[in-house]
Amino acid sequence: MSRVIAIDGPSGAGKSSVSRIVGEKLGFLHVDSGALYRIMTWQCLANGVDTANPAAVAAFAAEVQIECRAEEGHIAYYVKGEAPGNRIRTPEINAHASPVATVKEVRDRITAILRGLVSFGDLVVEGRDITTAVFPDSPARFYLTASAEARARRRQKEEVEKGIANQSAEAVKASLLARDAIDSTRKYAPLKKADGALEIDSSDLTLDQVVETVLAALPADWIRR
Ligand code: C5P
Repeated sequence: MSRVIAIDGPSGAGKSSVSRIVGEKLGFLHVDSGALYRIMTWQCLANGVDTANPAAVAAFAAEVQIECRAEEGHIAYYVKGEAPGNRIRTPEINAHASPVATVKEVRDRITAILRGLVSFGDLVVEGRDITTAVFPDSPARFYLTASAEARARRRQKEEVEKGIANQSAEAVKASLLARDAIDSTRKYAPLKKADGALEIDSSDLTLDQVVETVLAALPADWIRR
């Protein structure tokens, strides 16, 4: 049986960095579940599907084929042989991803893909519903959070460094809060702290401190010596 570390939390809480490092340290594959919702959104927009029309999104989502491959410590995704790259990280995708993620058929499809990834081995999976809906039985579940200011600061820096966008901190914060509001109030699998998940507020912690907190809370026999 593969082991799964599940990490949820709002945008910009540091889930990706923490998951990547924990995965490297333990030899678990890093799985970015948000990228799957972004890919669905990217494909909707590229094919003229109205993301505000759940029925149209549901019908279209059934046709999108996403190939998953284990590559260098993570699961990489391809659509028709192409890696999406930074095309799924734009402000436009940010604005449309949460509405697409409210659609039940999209969630069911992506949940099935994520559960199937255990065939690749041990995983660190990050997202919004991993601890509550996708892998609720994992013994290693975390809710990573941070203040809206800290999250916006980190996300803005990342967008500038990666050459994705050059928005003000205020604009980034507004976009994060808008997504959080949709993600935590939607009908299916809303973002919330799962009962039994360990909450970590990263606002005043370094990345190393968060990683250490996660590692210290894992079942003892999951740690490589
Ligand atoms: O994590 P990331 O910001 O890339 O996720 C993009 C969007 O995908 C989120 O705002 C959320 O609406 C959706 N998502 C989700 N469930 C997940 C991961 C992401 O609904 N497990």
